Formats: sequence, C-alpha cells, structure tokens
Amino acid sequence: MARLKITVNKTRCISSGDCTETAPAVFQLDADGKSDVVNPTGAADSLILSAARSCPVKAITVVDEDSGTQLFPPPKK
Ligand code: SF4
Repeated sequence: MARLKITVNKTRCISSGDCTETAPAVFQLDADGKSDVVNPTGAADSLILSAARSCPVKAITVVDEDSGTQLFPPPKK
C-alpha cells in the first residue's frame, strides 16, 4: 500500500457527498458541507482512487508520496 497524499480543493467542492459515500472512513463533510480528509489511510488505495474519480468537479487530488507521482487526476502528458 502506497502512502497517499490526498487533498481536497474546498473552493471547488460542491458538497455532493460522492466521496464520503464511497470512502466514509477517509472523507467526511465539515461544518460547511465541504469534504475533509479525516483519515488518509482509512481505506484501500483503490477505494480512495474510486472516491477521487467519483467527484463530479474533480476536487480531489491523490499523490503517491513515495514516488511523488500524481495518481489522480492523471497528469497530462
Ligand atoms: S465528491 Fe467532490 S464535490 Fe462531492 S463532497 Fe467530495 S470533494 Fe466535494
């Protein structure tokens, strides 16, 4: 399991709740209804990536901390 750095762009987040539904141990809505990363190791990497993909406004970025590779959104080539 890679060490993942997960960030949510709260300005972009529209509080849809998709990420919190997909990985509730990792993402929770804060008092403003914006997604917060409460436990970056709370789910398998694949589930965290699914949650990031499920975001309708692509507010979630996932980076492999060890290699520095951005896993989602896929880096443009
Ligand atoms: S899926 Fe995206 S827009 Fe919806 S709550 Fe999560 S970060 Fe916000």
